[in-house]
Amino acid sequence: MMYRFKQLLEDNANRLVQLVSEEHGKTPEDAMGELKRGIENVEYACGVPELLKGEYSHNVGPGIDAWSNFQPLGVVAGITPFNFPAMVPLWMYPMAIACGNTFILKPSEKDPSAAMAVAELLQEAGLPKGVMNVIHGGREAVETLLDAKAVKAISFVGSTPVAEAIYSRGSAAGKRVQALGGAKNHAVVLPDADLENAANTLMGAAFGSCGERCMAISVAVCVGDETANRLVETMLPKIAQLKVGPGTKKDLDMGPLVTAEHRAKVLSFIEDGVSAGATLVADGRDLQVPGYEEGYFVGGCLFDNVTAEMRIYQEEIFGPVLCVMRVASLDDAMQLINDHEYGNGTCLFTRDGEAARRFTDAIEVGMVGVNVPLPVPVAYHSFGGWKRSLFGDLHAYGPDSVRFYTRRKAVSQRWPSVSEATRAEFSFPANQ
Ligand code: NAD
Repeated sequence: MMYRFKQLLEDNANRLVQLVSEEHGKTPEDAMGELKRGIENVEYACGVPELLKGEYSHNVGPGIDAWSNFQPLGVVAGITPFNFPAMVPLWMYPMAIACGNTFILKPSEKDPSAAMAVAELLQEAGLPKGVMNVIHGGREAVETLLDAKAVKAISFVGSTPVAEAIYSRGSAAGKRVQALGGAKNHAVVLPDADLENAANTLMGAAFGSCGERCMAISVAVCVGDETANRLVETMLPKIAQLKVGPGTKKDLDMGPLVTAEHRAKVLSFIEDGVSAGATLVADGRDLQVPGYEEGYFVGGCLFDNVTAEMRIYQEEIFGPVLCVMRVASLDDAMQLINDHEYGNGTCLFTRDGEAARRFTDAIEVGMVGVNVPLPVPVAYHSFGGWKRSLFGDLHAYGPDSVRFYTRRKAVSQRWPSVSEATRAEFSFPANQ
């Protein structure tokens, strides 16, 4: 059934991409990217027999065999954010269902159509009714799931305050919860980095999907003033050339933000940065898209001279705003990142292997790139941040998801021969 589902997703990709673009506003190419990364998780779920086959030990005691197997939890639920309406649900239910559970999905109320259409394809692939369920709503729907006794586990992806509240309430009710939250992802640029390459990849990582990605790079930490000056000079013309327009059109770099409220929030962060004293060297606030004057557009924004006390540094903006910070050394950059409350993704641009090794070893962030600005793990690894970017023990998708959506049962079994006499044993069983 998972193989058929994967085929149906591929056959219907253009329709799904259109639904994502119409409701979310991201470009069709970007929507296709998220769908493909979602399909990777269906491929991974196709291999679930290998992952579920358990552990076995023969003759652990006289005539005793022991094994562990992994059984489904029952009903599990997923609550997903607006920014990846096709991909994030696919992080969850292919694996949850392949592990033997039934699933209730509560997609974002801002763009629920793609999640509905994808779930319908699973039905079309032959899934029995009642195994995959989609419910709609906001806080009330989520709280109903959190309080429902039948729901044994919750996977949540969204903002940190909601993630934290869901983790507390769900675990207090005895459920298994993984709650992935927000982010502030730093890219460190060392003086030896290939600046043109760093600037190009930072453009995509900061402004792709209008910055509405939990792995978006929102801070570029430059080691040395000269590195910062060169990075800003290289990026400014690229920002001026960003092609922004309605998300349903092809060959654009960015569409609009998701809602008018979100646009207002992003604009208020930019105001705040200006009044806190950061230098707004690229200002996308007045961007006009002819024919779409009421659209929720914001052009690419670049702040220089950002410091750690500023709100634009401390909080997640979730818009097309990149902050440049200047530090004296790699150690200072790492201290800054380790002190931040979020720890989702980070990246180091360098040609120095020793620096890269030090960075990957000691940085307190869950997903790390070296010259890879969006280090989103492929489906056969697992995805998750550290610190206040994830509440719970297990990461999303990949090997961790097998553990999250199952519980271990350890069986010890002995078949004594009929002639073998048994006697009462009062000491704790141990090998002699
Ligand atoms: P959100 O927290 O507002 O909403 C996420 C989900 O929670 C939605 O389904 C929504 O209906 C529900 N919800 C909202 N408020 C709630 C409340 N008070 N009680 C219960 N449920 C509630 O997030 P969003 O704006 O849809 O998505 C953007 C956020 O998600 C960003 O912070 C982003 O970093 C984060 N995100 C994180 C990851 C990750 O893997 N760490 C991935 C994608 C997005």
